[in-house]
Amino acid sequence: MKRLTLLTAALALSGLANFAQAKTLETVASFTVIADMVHNVGGDHVHVTSLIGPNGDPHVYEPTPSDAQALKKADVVFVSGLHLEGWLDRLITASGYKGQPIVLSNGIMTRSMEEDGEKITDPHAWNSAVNGVVYVRNIIKALQKADPDNATDYKANGEKYIAQLQDMDAYARAQINAIPVAQRKVLTSHDAFGYFGDAYGVTFLSPLGFSTETEASAADVGKLINQIKQEHVSAYFFENSSDPRLVQQIANASGAHPGGELYVESLSPPNGPATTYVKMFRYNVDKLTAAMKGK
Ligand SMILES: [Zn+2]
Repeated sequence: MKRLTLLTAALALSGLANFAQAKTLETVASFTVIADMVHNVGGDHVHVTSLIGPNGDPHVYEPTPSDAQALKKADVVFVSGLHLEGWLDRLITASGYKGQPIVLSNGIMTRSMEEDGEKITDPHAWNSAVNGVVYVRNIIKALQKADPDNATDYKANGEKYIAQLQDMDAYARAQINAIPVAQRKVLTSHDAFGYFGDAYGVTFLSPLGFSTETEASAADVGKLINQIKQEHVSAYFFENSSDPRLVQQIANASGAHPGGELYVESLSPPNGPATTYVKMFRYNVDKLTAAMKGK
């Protein structure tokens, strides 16, 4: 009897010891879309802080002192990369974070375009679900490396999540394939849907380039209005994270109809329709297909 009690006590103590060791991994993501991906793979083992909040613009972010605090205590930092987060290097130096951020776009097939005679890489890779899967595989690897004790959980969570992204990809293909190719033309504020367009066969026109930092010249805007008229672009969209004025002006001059708002590089606040990457993607597909059908 006594031995049994001792054994029970020993087991209870070792259980406590294990419990004390199971520390939550502190991670930081540059913006909400990738923070949600990290959360899906990490589950309860990981705490995620997104530097940019809902509806934020990742191109022109102004970091705050609390961002430096979050970075300083981070075990792992995740960025999308391809020069999207140009503001991050200085913040990392200022914060004293010593690690190397994990670049989630590593391994995707990049696309680029000429902007003012310079070849620029399109950073909006997550807007294709196939690329989203690459991001998730990079997250699984990074979390397994940082926290080997929970490697099997990261793998299991990640594979379950990848299956959701593959469903999402099939959904986009099915919805968009039902629309005649000539109708698949849409106007947006900036070029954030290039990977989406390449993956699912939609043409996106926009007055701005790959970044919201650039400005469109009057001549560019005039050319775009003509192009919209000639190519019968039927719908235009606002973006949750960009200034709507220019696209509104172009739409007024060209006769395109409002399609609503797309979530391009930022999730919505909790009361909005795009609180996760999966919801954001499906919402965009539904809005785009409805507009391209002329509904
Ligand atoms: Zn963008």
